[in-house]
Amino acid sequence: MAFSGNIDYKRLNDLVSNFVSTFDIDKDTFAETEKLSIKILKEQYLPTETDEWSRDFSLNETVDIVYEYLDSFDHNMAIQYNTLLHQRYEDGTLAVNFVDGKYNPDEESYFDYDQHVQFVFFNNPLDVTTLLHEMIHMMNSCKIEVKENIGDYLFRLIGNTETRVLLGESASITFELLLSEFMLEKGYITENDYNLIYNDRLDSTKANAEGIIVLNELIKLYLRDGHIDFINLTNLLNSRDRKSIVGKVLRYEYRTYECLLDVLDEEEIFINELEKYVLGFTIAKEILKDIDPLKETLWLHDELGNVNSNLDTVIDDLNRDLSVKIR
Ligand SMILES: [Zn+2]
Repeated sequence: MAFSGNIDYKRLNDLVSNFVSTFDIDKDTFAETEKLSIKILKEQYLPTETDEWSRDFSLNETVDIVYEYLDSFDHNMAIQYNTLLHQRYEDGTLAVNFVDGKYNPDEESYFDYDQHVQFVFFNNPLDVTTLLHEMIHMMNSCKIEVKENIGDYLFRLIGNTETRVLLGESASITFELLLSEFMLEKGYITENDYNLIYNDRLDSTKANAEGIIVLNELIKLYLRDGHIDFINLTNLLNSRDRKSIVGKVLRYEYRTYECLLDVLDEEEIFINELEKYVLGFTIAKEILKDIDPLKETLWLHDELGNVNSNLDTVIDDLNRDLSVKIR
């Protein structure tokens, strides 16, 4: 099926134009990320016998298992986690806001730049890995004050190092997978649950990878033609039928359209945000193959929380240790 002009191409043109000039993008900027995205889209899901979880998890049990896991290798991290769970800031807000997903099914868990975690629980095994994921973000966050605000990029650097801006998801996602291994070993979950947790993460990473492919094509279109217009955008939207990268790797027909609608919705070319998740999952998969995955993850966790961390050094170390090139 062919799409026509129901996407605001003028608005897309402005967003891409702004993005390309702010970040000094050229046609090769996302080449490595594109390779990693294609690899993610080829990854197989783990086999499952049912989509049902083996049992419910109470909120208390979820909180306790995360503590037990952290305490199994580092008592201080367990204490830090416990302290943050009960932390109240000077403005009276709690560091961690618990939201019952039963009554708020559309809410999502997140960690924000104001050092708050929103944790939405659904009383299933995913709660445990989600809680650890967000708490690891909070535990390795670090404050950096940037005085001038010269565009979006520096705005995002406030409260973050460059290492954290690019690799912020890597430690959280690796810890998620390590924790689900721990839960399986302890008998808290079944192998089917384990596979469901893994597949859930893989599924959202595939969606992010598709976003990267589509946005990258959009940027290349702009760089090639100097603008986005009705004609070149229509070609991109319909390229699913042809032998373009979009046609070859996207999971279903309307995906390009969805990705572009997301951009218009968010009013931002959020390819850097998507890159963080694709890198995070790629690094996590690689670290799990390591002889000592926990040691490698703790090193990454420390680098993310280190205000003096140097992104180039961290990337060099990762490229040396892992079998894929990160950047
Ligand atoms: Zn995260």
